[in-house]
Amino acid sequence: MSTTVSTMTPPPAAQPVQLHRRAPAAQSAASGAWTIDAIQTLLDKPLMDLLFEAQTVHRQHWPAGDIELATLLSVKTGGCPENCGYCPQAAEFDTGVKADKLMEVDEVVRAAQAAKDAGATRFCMGAAWRAPKDRDIEKVSALIGAVKGLGLQTCATLGMLESHQAQALKDAGLDYYNHNLDTAPEYYTDVVSTRAYQDRLDTLQHVRSAGISVCCGGIVGMGEAPVHRAGLIAQLANLQPYPESVPINSLVRVPGTPLADSEPIDPFDFVRMIAVARITMPKARVRLSAGRQQLGDAVQALCFMAGANSIFYGDKLLVTGNPDADADVRLLAKLGLNGHRTTTTDADAQQLHPA
Ligand code: SF4
Repeated sequence: MSTTVSTMTPPPAAQPVQLHRRAPAAQSAASGAWTIDAIQTLLDKPLMDLLFEAQTVHRQHWPAGDIELATLLSVKTGGCPENCGYCPQAAEFDTGVKADKLMEVDEVVRAAQAAKDAGATRFCMGAAWRAPKDRDIEKVSALIGAVKGLGLQTCATLGMLESHQAQALKDAGLDYYNHNLDTAPEYYTDVVSTRAYQDRLDTLQHVRSAGISVCCGGIVGMGEAPVHRAGLIAQLANLQPYPESVPINSLVRVPGTPLADSEPIDPFDFVRMIAVARITMPKARVRLSAGRQQLGDAVQALCFMAGANSIFYGDKLLVTGNPDADADVRLLAKLGLNGHRTTTTDADAQQLHPA
């Protein structure tokens, strides 16, 4: 779900609107692209040096202490035919998540109005589809139109899109689309087998070509090797342009999913991922997404130091837990950070969204 705030800095105007189709394992420095080796070197730095560098980059591009509070509404939950190993919404996994139909327009408008009343400037909607049918796009377009009618920006995460569907969503007023790459291409088949990495890149291309802003990130703690984490960052940072919003998720190990027994990521390695995302994509909103509950306050504070400037806010992320909103308010106050509301969906991930 990709999604985010009114204060998001747009990508540099000079950047070409074309996505990198498949990044080679290492690219020449002359191309200006990030190589996996270069990213690995950053990840391996002494932590304090890495944090200092990331915070320095952060302050060059963003106001210090500004944290976007993003909220995600699941408008169609469960029953997904994909088999993303992290996701409790996949129909084939026994996770206790029941399949719901797409919410009605009036229900969504009520939720959007409540979000607006709470200060949100953007409303994001996530649906657990592999790829929406054209009739689904029509229904979501109606949701987008209704939400736009309230004066809110819109964001959606609906799965894989064809070119004409992305254009239809743009025409309906969609501002942002979330579609995560999840992990490096070399580890992708260990996570999901019902689609290919290139499918993801193709959808991102369609979204960009339609003129919709991109929210795209990944998930760590799925049993991937360090090189795969570097590979994920390389894929994201080498998109042309890189995403406006980059959610980094820490796997929520949901019983019943194939990745439920994955070794948890070391919290400092998670902080390193945030820092390297900030350094390689300085103008992106870097969002702490799923898995914040398991990080704890101290590690989250390090993530903010590393350049994270957005969090998911609210008690639930699609179907997994999130720190309660009061706890977030207290944490930001303790750290002297300024949160501001927006409503988002980033996720594929079930981690925030769905595909
Ligand atoms: S992450 Fe998205 S595409 Fe994958 S199973 Fe969950 S809802 Fe479906």
